[in-house]
Amino acid sequence: MSAGAIVPRARTAGPVAAPTGSGAGFAASIWKALAGVVDPEIPSISIVELGIVRSVERSGDDWLVSITPTYSGCPATRVIESDIRDALAQIGGRDIRVVTQLAPPWTTDWIAPEARRKLRETGIAPPKPSGPGRAAPIRVVRTSGPDDGPVACPRCGSLRTVLVARFGSTACKAQYRCTDCLEPFDYFKPY
Ligand SMILES: [Zn+2]
Repeated sequence: MSAGAIVPRARTAGPVAAPTGSGAGFAASIWKALAGVVDPEIPSISIVELGIVRSVERSGDDWLVSITPTYSGCPATRVIESDIRDALAQIGGRDIRVVTQLAPPWTTDWIAPEARRKLRETGIAPPKPSGPGRAAPIRVVRTSGPDDGPVACPRCGSLRTVLVARFGSTACKAQYRCTDCLEPFDYFKPY
């Protein structure tokens, strides 16, 4: 055994005896594994619900998982990619390749309704629709502000909220305060 062996792609973990299948059953296993990977910044929401996983498809002898990172500057991206490889390794990940697909770029519009509900429950106002500009080839990450209209308080639902800071707990969120229940909260900025 050479100690310094280079392990390509995903590591296989555990006694996974089942060969990589070719049917929908294995695709379902992949989706299930991916549904267990969460966003490190919002642990209640999976990357599938966030719309990061674009497709799972058969490609020759391999399975191809396409992911679109939320945005290139997001520090969570590398953690997520590593977590995806770990999760896929659990189901016999040797024949699964993870590819990053940058076009079309990820948009908050891809966040599933279920995830929006969870965001609200976590005290984060979900993003509003990003608007018609989102399909443009060059996309500017918008910062939230008065032009975006009122952001509903995730706790009491009031629209009487004020922007406190353009950046909240993470760069992709802005901090607001509700003038009714007085709670500060994060708003997931649409882009
Ligand atoms: Zn409130």
